[in-house]
Amino acid sequence: MSTLAIAAEVKTRLVALRATLARAITGEGGVPADGRLEEPGSVGCKGDACLTCSFQAEDVLLTRLAIELDPQIPILFLDTGYHFAETYAYRDRMAREWNLNLVNLLPEKTVAEQEAEFGILYQSAPDRCCALRKVEPLFKAVAQYRVWLTGLRREQARSRGALEESAMFSLPGGKQVLKLAPLAAWTTRDVWYACEELQIPLLPLYARGYSSIGCEPCTSLPLDPNDPRSGRWGGRKVECGIHIQAAPGQ
Ligand code: SF4
Repeated sequence: MSTLAIAAEVKTRLVALRATLARAITGEGGVPADGRLEEPGSVGCKGDACLTCSFQAEDVLLTRLAIELDPQIPILFLDTGYHFAETYAYRDRMAREWNLNLVNLLPEKTVAEQEAEFGILYQSAPDRCCALRKVEPLFKAVAQYRVWLTGLRREQARSRGALEESAMFSLPGGKQVLKLAPLAAWTTRDVWYACEELQIPLLPLYARGYSSIGCEPCTSLPLDPNDPRSGRWGGRKVECGIHIQAAPGQ
């Protein structure tokens, strides 16, 4: 595809993305053409939506557009205590430069307390570690909102191949939130192009070859160049659990 064609495609995508975000964050635009945002009167007021941000490119792109609509939208960051120093430095830089309403979600136990009690869970039981440091704090925080915006994309992993742009998500305890993934159909190329167009600086770890970036002990360079998340958890698992719905009754 030529550069001009890519530019035109991303421009169109950005127009649609801005419209989706406006509906979700401010209610502007009413009911979407696909009718997926049901109960339009019950979502879309300022204060209803939050955005989860790992400070990877997709999330930073969404953040940049979301704060144009609501500078105070809560930007939720899962502060596991295990992130790269570069991620923390970049988070702090973007929070400062964009004046973000950054909400650092902390687990109940510090890294030192968890390791003293359970050992190195990211080695012995990474699902448990993710549950304690990511899933529990995130679900507790998201329950305070009606709309949950994420930067998930189908192309990121096979486990995300059927990702819907809009779906109700059941939290433990039964509360439902409207989970939106407005970048679901975007390619990596689209995201990078849009970030360049909008002059968004990216997490410096990309320049070192990382294609998916989470906690430092569970992130390596991709093992398979065709699978961007193949460097996560050494191939032992592909999801931390925050995008998996609670089973009924939980
Ligand atoms: S990604 Fe690794 S270090 Fe981070 S919470 Fe999950 S298991 Fe623990």
